[in-house]
Amino acid sequence: MDRDGTLTDEVGYVNHPSRLRLLPRSGAAVRRLNQAGIAVVVVTNQAGIARGYFSPEVLAAVNATLVSQLKDEGAHLDGVYVCPHHPTEGEAPYRLVCDCRKPKPGLLLRAASDLGLDLGRSTLVGDKGSDLVTARAVGARSVLVLTGYGLGEWEYRRAHFDVQPDHVARDLLDAVEWALARRSLA
Ligand SMILES: [Mg+2]
Ligand SMILES: [Zn+2]
Repeated sequence: MDRDGTLTDEVGYVNHPSRLRLLPRSGAAVRRLNQAGIAVVVVTNQAGIARGYFSPEVLAAVNATLVSQLKDEGAHLDGVYVCPHHPTEGEAPYRLVCDCRKPKPGLLLRAASDLGLDLGRSTLVGDKGSDLVTARAVGARSVLVLTGYGLGEWEYRRAHFDVQPDHVARDLLDAVEWALARRSLA
């Protein structure tokens, strides 16, 4: 799953742990996957690092806050994968045409390799059309949530999506319920 706008509130660049807030039903969504024995992996573009808006240390503190807030709700992540790059902004080493900035699939491929995931049986949940492209690139299903940028993306931009979602969900918990139902049908 994507982080900003999907798991947490979309507030622009999260340059301090105090700006990170779980969306209301995110804890329940992750807990549901934990209980079902399904790996939960966050894949997030954080070009604020390349742009110099915040340091890798701040990003680590923000993601530690995410883990801690989820723990308070009895939920845990199996992995957090970050692209800190931007192709044209900032300075080396983060100014880079990388293979991991979504919609490129590098973060998903790395997670699959580290955790032994079958991406063809996985579902990517995100709040942007570009997240759907990332899913398609690895043969995963995709769900667009209407949180974050999702409602605007779906109402105003869907005719321009390169990839249409397999499902549109109100939020992450609804996306998880859909994915779990699909899984038991398969
Ligand atoms: Mg997002
Ligand atoms: Zn990258």
